[in-house]
Amino acid sequence: QVEIRQVSKIFEGHTAVSEVSLTVHDGEFLVLLGPSGCGKSTLLRMLAGLELPTYGDIVIGGKVATRLKPKDRNVAMVFQNYALYPHLTIYENIAFPLRVNRFEKAKIDEKVRWAADLVGIEALLQRKPRQTSGGERQRTALARSLVRDPQLFLLDEPLSNLDAKLRHSSREELRRFQDRVGVTSIYVTHDQVEAMGLGDRIVVMRAGKIRQVGTPEQIYSHPADTFVATFIGSPP
Ligand code: ATP
Ligand code: MG
Repeated sequence: QVEIRQVSKIFEGHTAVSEVSLTVHDGEFLVLLGPSGCGKSTLLRMLAGLELPTYGDIVIGGKVATRLKPKDRNVAMVFQNYALYPHLTIYENIAFPLRVNRFEKAKIDEKVRWAADLVGIEALLQRKPRQTSGGERQRTALARSLVRDPQLFLLDEPLSNLDAKLRHSSREELRRFQDRVGVTSIYVTHDQVEAMGLGDRIVVMRAGKIRQVGTPEQIYSHPADTFVATFIGSPP
């Protein structure tokens, strides 16, 4: 379970995230939805430990994590551009975090094959990233995040640079995969269709604040205000 307690982030007088409180349940797939600049990435980066809240606290698995460094939290983050190493094979890309943490060779091999199998790229392990498709690279990035058994999985618009078709299939795959692994996930998007299709619950943000939290059905049928209604495209 993840608890965000009255968290604010102020950049040089500009409030990016304003007094956000939120509980994320174990195994839940939560979507953060809102227009560009509303503070989604900033909130995610604070959860990952890449940014320190100006006020408030973050509790992950019962432990106050607010001031813990990224490597001291059991959290994995997948970015929009995947950031794979071009000169390493898919295998070595996935193994990278384990090598850094000095896992034994046999253990590394076991975990890389487990993660590759889970995301369906076991046949590509000896290729370089440039010899794979956008979707396969995205799955490699997922596998690389998974080998460390994260407690919390953070995804910042991971599908945004895929074409519409691949985006659709990757989205379904991602969801199936999350159901299977059951890791608590927070997924950022500004695409309402994506949010509706993916989220167990959706958090709608505007200008650094939460406007509504609910299941896709609740938000669609009972939008809290006209902003949410317009953004989601609910019938009037
Ligand atoms: P997008 O959908 O465009 O990615 P977002 O919801 O992820 O938007 P954030 O990146 O969280 O938005 O930014 C929230 C606000 O904080 C924006 O107004 C942005 O300009 C500002 N901001 C983000 N990072 C910094 C920074 N390092 N310094 C100053 N301002 C920042
Ligand atoms: Mg962003």
